[in-house]
Amino acid sequence: IRRRVAKYREDNLKLEKRISERTIELESLNQKLSELATEDSLTGVLNRRALEQGLQREWYRCLDQRRPLSALMIDVDHFKQYNDKFGHLEGDVLLREIAQSLKTNHDSKRELLARFGGEEFALLLPGVSLEDAVQRADKIRLAVTEHNRNITVSIGVAGFVPSIQMEQISLLRRADAALYRAKRAGRNRVEKDND
Ligand code: GH3
Ligand code: MG
Ligand code: MG
Repeated sequence: IRRRVAKYREDNLKLEKRISERTIELESLNQKLSELATEDSLTGVLNRRALEQGLQREWYRCLDQRRPLSALMIDVDHFKQYNDKFGHLEGDVLLREIAQSLKTNHDSKRELLARFGGEEFALLLPGVSLEDAVQRADKIRLAVTEHNRNITVSIGVAGFVPSIQMEQISLLRRADAALYRAKRAGRNRVEKDND
């Protein structure tokens, strides 16, 4: 009997060890899955879903603290021509490089950088006024061009203190409207919301 009990104990220990190994594996897989769910696979910045979640969080935080929330919409100029000339794979390489220069020009602890769609990125700046966001946008515009084969970007900026009767999406809508004005005015420039 004693021998049998010893054997059961030993088997039991082995099982427990396997379970704890599996648990660690599962935890690390879970971590990877949640990163995949918030990350844009091509560029490694946040995806649109994560941007929308972040916007909601920062919107209410700024509303509470009566601080401004600003957004930049950044769109690559004449990107279709670049694809047509060098092919889509080279286009992808350029998109990654542009994302990399945006990454190095933002503070990931405070700010949210996301790929909004095709060749369009969004940067959310909590606590930053419209005027300061415009200055940031101009620095970003110059940095991107300097580091990416003279490719230019146009940037639309919006920023205000959120209020309870406003819609969250209005921030991105207004930044997007400013972006379209930057395109119409000749590209490679920053335009701010004029509402
Ligand atoms: P504009 O200056 O007005 O912004 O001109 P544009 O050519 O950049 O704009 P348009 O919207 O006409 O074209 C965007 C292009 O972006 C078209 C599409 O092929 C390309 N694009 C979108 N997503 C990707 C992607 O993931 N990889 C590559 N290589 N190209 C993409
Ligand atoms: Mg474009
Ligand atoms: Mg575009």
